[in-house]
Amino acid sequence: MKEQKNHYIKRFISYYKPHWKLFLIDMVCAVLICLIDLAFPYATRVILNDLLPNQQYRYFFLLMAVITVCYVLRALCQYFVDYWGHLLGVRMEADIRKELFCHLQKQSFTFFDQTRTGQIMSRLINDLFEIVELAHHGPEDIFISLIMLIGSFTALFVIQWKLALVLLCMVPITVVFIVKKRTNMGQASRKLKEKTGNINSALESSISGIRVAKAFANEDYELEKFLEDNNEYRNSKNGFYKAMGTFHAGVETLACFFGFFVLLVGGLLIMNKNMTVVDMLAANLYVASFLQPVRRLGNFVELFEGGMAGFKRFVELMNVEPDITDKEGAKELKNVKGDVTFSHVTFSYEDAEEGEKEVLSDINLTVSAGKTIGIVGPSGGGKTTLCHLIPRFYEVSEGNITIDGINIKDVTLASLRENVGIVQQDVFLFPGTIRENILYGNVNASEEEMIKAAKEAMLHDFIMSLPQKYDTIVGERGIRLSGGQKQRISIARILLKNPPILILDEATSALDNETEAKIQQSFARLAKGRTTFVIAHRLSTIKDADEIIVIDHEGIKETGTHEELLKTSDIYQRLYYGTERSKL
Ligand code: ADP
Ligand code: MG
Repeated sequence: MKEQKNHYIKRFISYYKPHWKLFLIDMVCAVLICLIDLAFPYATRVILNDLLPNQQYRYFFLLMAVITVCYVLRALCQYFVDYWGHLLGVRMEADIRKELFCHLQKQSFTFFDQTRTGQIMSRLINDLFEIVELAHHGPEDIFISLIMLIGSFTALFVIQWKLALVLLCMVPITVVFIVKKRTNMGQASRKLKEKTGNINSALESSISGIRVAKAFANEDYELEKFLEDNNEYRNSKNGFYKAMGTFHAGVETLACFFGFFVLLVGGLLIMNKNMTVVDMLAANLYVASFLQPVRRLGNFVELFEGGMAGFKRFVELMNVEPDITDKEGAKELKNVKGDVTFSHVTFSYEDAEEGEKEVLSDINLTVSAGKTIGIVGPSGGGKTTLCHLIPRFYEVSEGNITIDGINIKDVTLASLRENVGIVQQDVFLFPGTIRENILYGNVNASEEEMIKAAKEAMLHDFIMSLPQKYDTIVGERGIRLSGGQKQRISIARILLKNPPILILDEATSALDNETEAKIQQSFARLAKGRTTFVIAHRLSTIKDADEIIVIDHEGIKETGTHEELLKTSDIYQRLYYGTERSKL
């Protein structure tokens, strides 16, 4: 446990390394501020005790000049600490966020199936904010506090050791109180973080589902769900602030008692002529400058709890190894012809509740380069899953998939995915311009290539009719596109990408018959010369496929051309006539 904690702290410190110069200057400035603050009460004492009574006015004015210079210096240091110190934190934050984002990008589909978007967002934004606060203020707080504590106590001892001793006795009480209460606050803070993540995910899903909620007039139900999370969040915040209240009240009360003891003990000492009034004044000033670090330490404890909890979650997330990666010595997949073979492929999803769930079993399939294969089967039969195995979105549980005879596990993921294009039923458009969305297929493509692709996807004329043409914004704050138009954008994307292997996963299911018939041409063009896997819910669209397979969770049931299957396969007949009839 303790070792683990050290491990986290060590790792945390490692993020300072690239910015050590900034850190060092920050610390030097912080120390200068401390020293100036510590010198002031002493100067006061010298003035009152020596300079004024002895009428050494020249020295008095000299000292005043020195103090002025010191205060200008202090102002500069303060500015540096506040401005550059925060920048140090911001830079570290940027580093950590970058690392986390890169790591997230490496994760496979399985990870995103199992992790809620809101939780990830909460880590990327809220957690990191706290980590950075700790990164910036943490070392400063500890450093300044220690110097101020030691400095003011030394001064107190010089002024009046008996008084200093009494005050020193109070230090352990203060420390015990801080340590004890900080644990409570830490627990409350952890709970709060958890609830923050929950409410973020809940909001995320409610807002992205708001159209469905409205369609079912289920706003009340959504509100109820939300209120539940909101209440839990509120309660845990209550808990946190309660702990914080106790903590602050305690620390402040202790602070008051320090002042109290100076008066009490100092008063007694003055009565016995063991201390001068001036010394008592100086002692009081030192107690003030010594309470500042005590408060700072309290502040630090808060920062540390929050920041470390966030950092731990960050490390936890970083420790999730991506389950699909390039194997050592993986080669580039180049000059792909497009022969795809499945041999004895079995696949199970890992379900958090039900454990392993076998979806594909013992699939054997050979598709020669340039051919089109139709995949049909009942909904939930594993068609999409089968196709997702080719670009290694998921990893086969058993068996092998090869492209041109090369096992897909032996090539780099990037080169594999460059060679496989997928068009799905619902097209995701990034918020941005149409140009950006088409160029997503190949960010290095030229304007001409992009327009050519748009023309081939039968999209160009439509785009030219828009006021901003290719610069028209789509997505959340832009224009709305119809299903067919979106699908055309995704076709243009794939045309730009130009992969030798193509997957059309119910690409036209969301479209009406008329649009489908129109877009079918674009698909035919797209499929030309590529190895194409077509999943279609309307079997009429795959009639011309070179081969059709019928699959369900038991594996491949039937294989053949449309005509053959119509004659020989019961399931195919049922699927064909079933859907054909439902179309009428
Ligand atoms: P199809 O495309 O043929 O309709 P899928 O390949 O989408 O079928 O799904 C096949 C089965 O796998 C279904 O039972 C589905 O519930 C399950 N499944 C699909 N995706 C996942 C996933 N990400 N995690 C767990 N189970 C899944
Ligand atoms: Mg599917």
